[in-house]
Amino acid sequence: MVNVRIDKDKCIGCGFCVAVCPDIFELGDDGKSHVKGDPNKCDVKTLKEAAEGCPTTAITIEE
Ligand code: SF4
Repeated sequence: MVNVRIDKDKCIGCGFCVAVCPDIFELGDDGKSHVKGDPNKCDVKTLKEAAEGCPTTAITIEE
């Protein structure tokens, strides 16, 4: 079971995580990323790529 958290104060809405895992992340009306689906739909390696590539380290993956 994987849990994904996004720190909205840190997110700058760059869209990187959306490009990496479009089934999990989407940009909301506030211009920030949020989790739209079950994070278990995306493999953990890809989720970690999204987290590690986030320019502001706004994404936390909890396993
Ligand atoms: S990669 Fe980080 S800063 Fe960019 S949209 Fe996703 S959470 Fe926000």
